[in-house]
Amino acid sequence: MAAPLTDQEKRKQISVRGIAGLGDVAEMKRSFNRHLHFTLVKDRNVATPRDYYFALAHSVRDHLVGRWIRTQQYYYEKDPKRVHYLSLEFYMGRTLQNTMINLGLQNACDEAVYQLGLDLEELEEIEEDAGLGNGGLGRLAACFLDSMATLGLAAYGYGIRYEFGIFNQRISGGWQVEEADDWLRYGNPWEKARPEYMLPVHFYGRVQHTDSGVKWLDTQVVLAMPYDTPVPGYKNNTVNTMRLWSAKAPNDFNLQDFNVGDYIQAVLDRNLAENISRVLYPNDNFFEGKELRLKQEYFVVAATLQDIIRRFKSSKFGSRDPVRTSFDTFPDKVALQLNDTHPALAIPELMRILLDIEKQCWTAWDITVRSCAYTNHTVLPEALERWPVYMFEKLLPRHLLIIYEINQRHLDRIAALFPGDVARLRRMSLIEEGDPKRINMAHLCVVGTHAVNGVARIHSDIVRNTVFCLCSERVRCGAVLPPVCVSVNCSRMQQTGNTNKVALHTHTHTHTHTHTHTHTHTHTHTHTHRLTELMCSQAAPGYHMAKLIIKLITSVGEVINNDPAVRDRLKLIFLENYRVSLAERVIPAADLSEQISTAGTEASGTGNMKLMLNGALTVGTEDGATVEMAEEAGHDNLFMFGLRVDEVDELDRRGYDARRHYERLPELKLVLDQIRSGFFSPEQPELFSELVSMLLHHDRFKVLADYEAYVDCQERVSRLYQDAAAWTRVVIRNIAAAGKFSSDRTVSQYAREIWGVEPSHVKIPPPNEPPITPQS
Ligand code: IMP
Repeated sequence: MAAPLTDQEKRKQISVRGIAGLGDVAEMKRSFNRHLHFTLVKDRNVATPRDYYFALAHSVRDHLVGRWIRTQQYYYEKDPKRVHYLSLEFYMGRTLQNTMINLGLQNACDEAVYQLGLDLEELEEIEEDAGLGNGGLGRLAACFLDSMATLGLAAYGYGIRYEFGIFNQRISGGWQVEEADDWLRYGNPWEKARPEYMLPVHFYGRVQHTDSGVKWLDTQVVLAMPYDTPVPGYKNNTVNTMRLWSAKAPNDFNLQDFNVGDYIQAVLDRNLAENISRVLYPNDNFFEGKELRLKQEYFVVAATLQDIIRRFKSSKFGSRDPVRTSFDTFPDKVALQLNDTHPALAIPELMRILLDIEKQCWTAWDITVRSCAYTNHTVLPEALERWPVYMFEKLLPRHLLIIYEINQRHLDRIAALFPGDVARLRRMSLIEEGDPKRINMAHLCVVGTHAVNGVARIHSDIVRNTVFCLCSERVRCGAVLPPVCVSVNCSRMQQTGNTNKVALHTHTHTHTHTHTHTHTHTHTHTHTHRLTELMCSQAAPGYHMAKLIIKLITSVGEVINNDPAVRDRLKLIFLENYRVSLAERVIPAADLSEQISTAGTEASGTGNMKLMLNGALTVGTEDGATVEMAEEAGHDNLFMFGLRVDEVDELDRRGYDARRHYERLPELKLVLDQIRSGFFSPEQPELFSELVSMLLHHDRFKVLADYEAYVDCQERVSRLYQDAAAWTRVVIRNIAAAGKFSSDRTVSQYAREIWGVEPSHVKIPPPNEPPITPQS
């Protein structure tokens, strides 16, 4: 096994990268010591590793501040169209390394920290992940912020500052156990609270129609306190803002009217209001229709729109008429991108503000539609948000009336286009009849925006041709693709791969006390080499079957890793607590990426692209972005297998019979029988029988239909892997073809086709140079 690098070797690597200026190193050391003393209030006798991390984080942050202020001043001076990315999730991961890279500070920090007797990688490891996301949708939002800053767009991320992000996963007895993600416990050096910009958000109450318009009265107010996080572009001095809202109870909360006299209880009840931003819902691709979630969705939208309209009104070239603002130019100045339907309430909320507060007429609808755009992330029915009307009646009564009005006008149009087609009206309505009646948020988004897109071409086609074309002829899907944010040096690829494997091996060994094999495949199936299969995944806490699958993986691992006949040739390791920072270790070390969703069910996938760019080859179905990856790299350079979407549909029509495959394939039968009979769970032989029965009797994903093709595909993988040179050639072709999947390219496409803005190549001057004026 290759040993991890010695300090001396590391220094050599750094000297290859280029030595930082001596002055920069000295300044970084001074700054570090200053922060240790003044910010952390520690001396080196008592400082903990975490104190050192914070001292470094603050030193790096200092380099952001001037650029951040300058960027915001620049936007004020130039008044460009602003892009607002609204998302219930921003899965940012760690910030320190990304900031050092984008500001060009990595070498100076590395050297400074080394001279202080510390290790940069060890300090980086102390940073908590900002885990404010479940997976692809949240990571997409994070990558987009990164690219929008790099492309010089005047962009803002708006979301919720969850006190608890995605749960931490521990494996106990082979089962997933969740732990609360108390990521703010030690403080967050990257955020700046802005209590002075707190905004009110209203809930509940009643609607009154008056001569001077409609009023929403007797509401309960919760305050939204913004926390700003800087988003630096790559070496362009641009620093944009991610503004996350935190719920605060007003100081008179529950102290008026009815509760006078119970002061203590009123103070204790402040928690109820503040629960809105307490915790991220850990559901990926699943709609959980809880009132607290609806409150979160309205909370972020209501605070964000107030902020956007405040900025629009105070913009240098905007209307500053104190009596009546003209909103005619609003869509030319403001783009709102809705990351799935989670922030869809932006549509009726913008209408409410324009109609009831700004006293506009129904032309407000045109302003709203031209400002908003919607990205769909899934067509799986269990993921689509369909809120019961009774919840709106209670929580957002004014919005319900506005949605009814939007729907009436929408249906009037459809009726004029298709006279007498009642079935079509029912299909296209924003309101679904039934018990309870529900509001279909995807339909609201299709009707209330000027652009709808899916996240991969095949997904856009499915959105256009099936689910949503039933709703409206407005669907104009651009195939806008998701992100990758990593780079690889091709000429040093094999060497890079090895270093990354060693790094992952060290991490795995430290965290699981299991030896992996660093010379061979990470993540594959051949029997001629020593192999390590790594698996990581998180199950939503309420998803029984997903948790049972994790237990099955760990149980199979137990058997393999302890079997004297195979344990030195094959290992199966479940890496717990998959998150952004772990993905950053696993992906660069992987040889094979398995993208095995049933065709038509994965909207895009984003891990597939990151693995491709980092030199892993793909075993994949014709699904999501994998289709386009094969197109870019050439079909011969990916291992494609399984049913295509039309074949899956055909199977649905004919009727899927899983038992046919079970009876036909002895190897498959053996595997399923072993799982069912307790071969992998001798102490609880029945444990996995429900899993097998699901696969055989009610598997909507038709896994067994693709089994044979999958095994054949793995044989092809094994054959290529025997020939190291041929394998490397294919890897290089894949890496070279991955450019399409860059989030910079993706965001450029959104900018041109959806937001109507141009990437700016103006480099904002750094803080020590005079600012650019609009004239210069
Ligand atoms: P924002 O309103 O949250 O986008 O932040 C406003 C930024 O615009 C501030 O940080 C200032 O840099 C700039 N700004 C706002 N108002 C003025 C002004 O009246 N004169 C000059 N700059 C301003």
